[in-house]
Amino acid sequence: MTMERLNEKEKIRAQVKVWKDEGKLIGFVPTMGALHSGHMNLVKNSVKECDRTIVSIFVNPTQFGEGEDLDKYPRPLETDLKLLEKANADLAFMPNEDSMYPQGFCTWVIQEDLTEKLCGRYRPVHFKGVCTVVTKLLNITTPDKAYFGRKDFQQSVIIQRMVQDLDIPVEIRVMPTVREHDGLAMSSRNKYLTPPQRRDAVCLYKTLLQTRQLFAKGEENPKTFIDAMQQHLAQYEAVQPEYTEIVAPTDLTRPKTASSTSIAAVAARIGETRLIDNMPLGGRLQDVFQSAPERHQGRIP
Ligand code: AMP
Repeated sequence: MTMERLNEKEKIRAQVKVWKDEGKLIGFVPTMGALHSGHMNLVKNSVKECDRTIVSIFVNPTQFGEGEDLDKYPRPLETDLKLLEKANADLAFMPNEDSMYPQGFCTWVIQEDLTEKLCGRYRPVHFKGVCTVVTKLLNITTPDKAYFGRKDFQQSVIIQRMVQDLDIPVEIRVMPTVREHDGLAMSSRNKYLTPPQRRDAVCLYKTLLQTRQLFAKGEENPKTFIDAMQQHLAQYEAVQPEYTEIVAPTDLTRPKTASSTSIAAVAARIGETRLIDNMPLGGRLQDVFQSAPERHQGRIP
């Protein structure tokens, strides 16, 4: 079956109605395009678990703050569509900006608390844009399951809370972080990195692995982990850390004592590029990430 490419919400609704009338289970993967193996793993899981898979490609302007990379965000649409076709997605939804934010648009989904922590401190409008666009996309596609990546851990927690709080009838599936050969979490923004910056970018992954090793040795004080991560990142001249944190996976608060389910989270700028990553302190590494190429062994490179 060839993949449908649609821009109009009304056509999406009509197609979804046909599928629902046929009793099909619908999976949805929201993306901003520039697709890589992290995105494609979400698509793969949706194709595996659902009868029909819709993937949206929309660079959502409202989740970018002043001076952020909205204008230069990569938009390789034809390549993306080919990848989706190859992955057996059924429908690519590429709404245009005017239909998502028509003249007079003034209704927002604002989540308190969780959105103010971690990345929210550095990107004050980001999660307002994310919550609003995800709500709209869920309302348009009305899927049974929606797929998100663990790489954006805070986002996944916020979205799970949002669908619970707003009674949006969808199951949120959170999939492991997919990484490059050396451990760097895949991101559309990795394309911005120069070769020397790309080499340094692995420091986020390395500091998270070291944090896990510290925990395995018996360390339990969140402050010790936070300081160790800061010290590690300080070795890289080109890297400007934004935050290094230990948080509880449900409410994103810093626990008094770290446990195996606590999440180590890091955000840093390398030049103009902002990168984030996270890992739980305990548990099996293979449960939370996958490497795109087979060669990666989960070692510290
Ligand atoms: P984006 O296109 O950056 O908005 O991301 C779309 C979805 O892909 C989000 O749910 C992200 O968390 C997810 N994603 C992005 N990078 C990765 C990755 N390296 N591994 C797993 N999921 C990812």
